[in-house]
Amino acid sequence: MARLVALLGHPVAHSISPAFQQAAFAASGLDARYEPWDVPPGELPGAVERLRGGDLLGANVTVPHKVAVLGLVDRPDGAAERVGAVNTVVNAGGLLEASNTDVAGLRAAWAEAGIAVAGERAVLLGAGGAARAAVAALSGLGARSVTVANRTPGRAAALRALAGEGLALSTCPLDAASGELRSALSEASLVIHCTPLGMRHGPDETRSPLPRSAFRPGQVAFDSVYTPEWTPFLQEASRGGARAVGGLAMLVHQGAASFRLWTGVEPPLGVMFDAARAALAGR
Ligand code: NAP
Repeated sequence: MARLVALLGHPVAHSISPAFQQAAFAASGLDARYEPWDVPPGELPGAVERLRGGDLLGANVTVPHKVAVLGLVDRPDGAAERVGAVNTVVNAGGLLEASNTDVAGLRAAWAEAGIAVAGERAVLLGAGGAARAAVAALSGLGARSVTVANRTPGRAAALRALAGEGLALSTCPLDAASGELRSALSEASLVIHCTPLGMRHGPDETRSPLPRSAFRPGQVAFDSVYTPEWTPFLQEASRGGARAVGGLAMLVHQGAASFRLWTGVEPPLGVMFDAARAALAGR
């Protein structure tokens, strides 16, 4: 009998995770199926209970359920507790273990792109789940400071608890005209984008959160958005002279870490990248 991995989200139809996870199961000779489940918020507890069944290996969790699932599982690990959100559930014989592989995905993507983090100053745009993972990754890699710019300032301040002792965290409005943001950008070597602006099917597909004048040569601009691959944020950053790095590697690496947790098998990264790129190209 094929085992199942579910993707819990709402909506889930646009996700490319099924394409590259299914390719990874096939390449690894595993009799497993990756199934998107569109779960409205009211139906989340029932969907999580279903994960305890013998046919389920576990699940990925995406927007808007990452925080709520934390309260529904049995054993969240250190990464899930720290970030305050879950993106991976493993069914361990009816007990639900949970993790957050977005942190590992970011760290792997930054390492692969040769992005220096230790001792560096960063600006982070957004304060949701992806941003929380970014603060945990910055802190773990020994960044010196991060300025979190968010539309809702109170939400940015809540990230302070995540920063740990070594990472100085300040906040400011997500407004390109803000003097605080301009000053932080002039000192930052890394600008990380974690809002859905510029994302296909997102709230504003054509908008970059910052204009080209916010960037400078010598800076790295990292977009967590991966569809399209060349986002408005990356276009503006590149026009401003910064090095622009997209979020596809973060997506594939977080998925690879999830695959390892469900199966205990080393993920076939090359196959996963090829399948992810093919799925994006087919859009
Ligand atoms: P989330 O938890 O819902 O947080 C969304 C963030 O974006 C919040 O800070 C929100 O600000 C801000 N925001 C939303 N709409 C905005 C708008 N119109 N203008 C300005 N700010 C806006 O979402 P998330 O899980 O962090 O995901 C954010 C992005 O990261 C998504 O586009 C997703 O594609 C990407 N992501 C990528 C990966 C990957 O593997 N590459 C993984 C996770 C997420 P407020 O606090 O003011 O609401």
